[in-house]
Amino acid sequence: MTTPTELATTIADAPYACDSEALIELLASTKVGLSKTEAAARLAQFGPNTLPTAKPVPAWRRLLKQTQNMMIYVLAGSMLISLGLQHFIDAGVIFAVIVTNTLVGFFQEGKAENALRAIMSMTKTQCLVMRDGELLSLNGAQLVPGDVVMLQAGDKVPADLRIIKSKDLYCDESSLTGESLPGAKSVVAVAADTPLAERSCMAYMGTLVSRGSAHGLVCLTGAKTEIGKVSTMVDKITTEPTLLQNQIEQFAKRLTIVIIIAAVITIAIGMGLYQYDIGTMFQAAIAIAVAAIPEGLPAVVTIVLAVGVQRMASKNALMRRLPSVEVLGSVDIICTDKTGTLTANAMTARRIVSAHHNFHIHGEGYDPEGEIHSNDTDTSAQHGAFLNQAAIVALLCNDSSIQPPNLDNTDWSVSGDPTEAALLVFALKHDLVKEQIQREWPRVDEIPFSSDARYMATLHHNHDGQRLIAVKGAPDRIIEFCDQQFGPQGSEPLDSEYWQAQMDDLASQGMRVLALAYRDDIDSQSLNHQHVEQHLTLLALIGLNDPPRAGVSESIQQCYSAGIQIKMITGDNPITALAIAKELGMNADEVMTGAELDQQSPEQLADSAERCHVFARTSPANKLQLVNALRARNHTVAMTGDGVNDAPALRQADIGVAMGKKGTDAARDAADFVLTDDNFSTITHAVAEGRSVYDNIVKAIIFILPTSLAESLVILAAILLGQLLPITPAQVIWVNTITAITLALTLAFERAENDIMLRPPRSSQQPLITLALLWRTAFVGVGAAAIIFALFRYYLAQGASVEMARTVAVNALVMIEALYLLNCRFLRRSIFSLSLFKGAMPSLLGILAVAILQLGFSYWSVSQSIFDLADLALHDWLIITLAASPLILLVELEKVVLQHWYSASPSPQ
Ligand code: ATP
Repeated sequence: MTTPTELATTIADAPYACDSEALIELLASTKVGLSKTEAAARLAQFGPNTLPTAKPVPAWRRLLKQTQNMMIYVLAGSMLISLGLQHFIDAGVIFAVIVTNTLVGFFQEGKAENALRAIMSMTKTQCLVMRDGELLSLNGAQLVPGDVVMLQAGDKVPADLRIIKSKDLYCDESSLTGESLPGAKSVVAVAADTPLAERSCMAYMGTLVSRGSAHGLVCLTGAKTEIGKVSTMVDKITTEPTLLQNQIEQFAKRLTIVIIIAAVITIAIGMGLYQYDIGTMFQAAIAIAVAAIPEGLPAVVTIVLAVGVQRMASKNALMRRLPSVEVLGSVDIICTDKTGTLTANAMTARRIVSAHHNFHIHGEGYDPEGEIHSNDTDTSAQHGAFLNQAAIVALLCNDSSIQPPNLDNTDWSVSGDPTEAALLVFALKHDLVKEQIQREWPRVDEIPFSSDARYMATLHHNHDGQRLIAVKGAPDRIIEFCDQQFGPQGSEPLDSEYWQAQMDDLASQGMRVLALAYRDDIDSQSLNHQHVEQHLTLLALIGLNDPPRAGVSESIQQCYSAGIQIKMITGDNPITALAIAKELGMNADEVMTGAELDQQSPEQLADSAERCHVFARTSPANKLQLVNALRARNHTVAMTGDGVNDAPALRQADIGVAMGKKGTDAARDAADFVLTDDNFSTITHAVAEGRSVYDNIVKAIIFILPTSLAESLVILAAILLGQLLPITPAQVIWVNTITAITLALTLAFERAENDIMLRPPRSSQQPLITLALLWRTAFVGVGAAAIIFALFRYYLAQGASVEMARTVAVNALVMIEALYLLNCRFLRRSIFSLSLFKGAMPSLLGILAVAILQLGFSYWSVSQSIFDLADLALHDWLIITLAASPLILLVELEKVVLQHWYSASPSPQ
């Protein structure tokens, strides 16, 4: 045998220039792949099929990035000025602030990135591989040269493959070659000097199969693949800042400018009016700046987003893009497909209809126990002939398999499409087994199912030289192609009206209906759409039952209470779709088909998209039209999808949702988030989480702005009034950066409020800073500053030392902040309820941490001498508590009085 190194060199040279048979030989493989032992040996030789991960950005560079913002520049400037004025304590404190801030940002950014990275690794590509003649679903990392993999539309190519069998295969290689149109692929070798983009017999790792199917021989894996050579990561993590993060950054920048101007004016007034010396004035101006700049905000926002992403992941929603988390909160329309998302995709064939009879199929699930009974008493042999023929077509035009209960599964389980598996079960109930029928009628060619064509067809030649095309698909489509029907005496003319009535009858019971048909007069080695789309003989209609998923009805009601509309957009029959929509409790009395939408003008289409809630027999193009129409009417739209053709609609929607289980890699790549359980209810949970993320950001803002204002006002007012500063600049810096940030961070861990899904969605146009937020900032900021001022003056009036009065004032400020944190836990509701204690652990721990820090700050001798503090007695604490408490009550009163204002805009911001 060739040694691994020789093998690698030969293959690396130009696998596309080798004839496929020769290449299979060279790789010591077969058309049906390797044995499991050989594959294991090669895995040890060649290593796993993974791309080397991107070199992590060095820690020092990430650290440096944290210092590159306006706020740090202002702080650094302040530190230099303090040094110049020989205010070493202030300079030291500001330096500590810069270090703390940089470190908090550094660790939080790492945390958010790690959360996304972990999530990306959960969506690793699975692929279908032949080993020991068996078709296995494996993680792409386990592929080795010589493996044979199956490719289908929507798959991401798992390694560099030489195509050895191809059916209408097209690959979208834009990620590798930049070529935007999918290229056709075939098995024919090309010249050794063919450029990458024209090697039509190769499918390269990381590219997407946009159409058709193929068998590919793995030639190169991991770092040796083309993508491995040019890039280090296929799945890039998107950590671009969110809209809200951008808005906050903008806001912080503007605020900083305003603050600098305010500080300069203060210096001017202080020096001009009260003849303060420049040193004192600079010190005060720096304190105002440090107090008023909301340093903690960016870190808190990043943490809120990261916590939200992690919470969603634990509930089966994997976010692929951080910005989408906050968009989720404003979703007001969810467009969802039906099968497998609203329904369980657990198919059971219940009825089969022939040209003259109706049969009931008994039994449950995929267990092949159960009988088939005709609705009449006639049990003639013709029934046998009909059921035989129907079961043969159902088995031949079928790629699924079912497995009996085993150690992993207590029930019968399915590999492949559940619709097809239900047909296997039907055939087994008629005592026909797939393997036996497929041996008699080997498959020569196939047209795989696609939601555009809505049928699947296979071509078979038996050993007596007979040919058969087996077809199954959506009845309205198949009936169009039939001119005969299978009757007791053989073929007879088609009675379209009869079939239409039968189809409507099954569909009105919410059943998914499939038609089975065949053709036996074609003499061809290959199959194309023209062979299928004429002269078929209609055999049967099969009614399949697909029950609603548990919990979906409740989630739908929850969405309605949350002001979110639901649109079912399905490929299924309109009558079935409407029946299921009603069963699920959707607001649906009208259904429109894709064909009807195609007839409409853009304006009419937009009206239909608004008015109607069930769309059936839609194509992926209809999905795209509907998303565009709804978005043009200012809706924020979430759209689910699974097929390769759904990718444009998923990209276009505000939130593209891909199915983790039945979805294709192409859909997952295009989506903003992936449902690992394909369940509609998971979208509802994610929307609730998105709303709670937004709430928590608003809570952080509504906490940070008023407290910052209070801190700066205390100093500003003292200077403007020409009075002693109640709190020194160094003390303000301590409060602002140590205690306020610790408290604000706890808001990131707040759980969703009870009414989160009882309010209407937030408008996506809503600005970040609203009148309500400004009012609250002014109300609490001025209130807190007044209390501190009053307390300070009171202590001085009582003859206390300035140090003593300041120790009281600074502790009162921290106490007010700690109590106000409790106010901020609920945006609109009163905190005086039992729910105050529900989920209160993070804020209580934050308050405890601040209490400990504050005791250390107030009593530790080193800190006392740095910050000029005096010892407080018990009664001082009592006075501080009494002075600080009224504000918490006033804010609760304000919530009641202004309730209307706050709930008119969904969040008070
Ligand atoms: P949804 O879009 O909600 O997932 P769906 O699964 O019914 O609904 P499609 O997958 O586009 O939508 O299927 C459309 C129609 O094609 C189905 O109603 C059915 O009649 C037919 N069909 C579905 N699966 C197959 C299959 N494997 N082979 C042949 N026909 C099929």
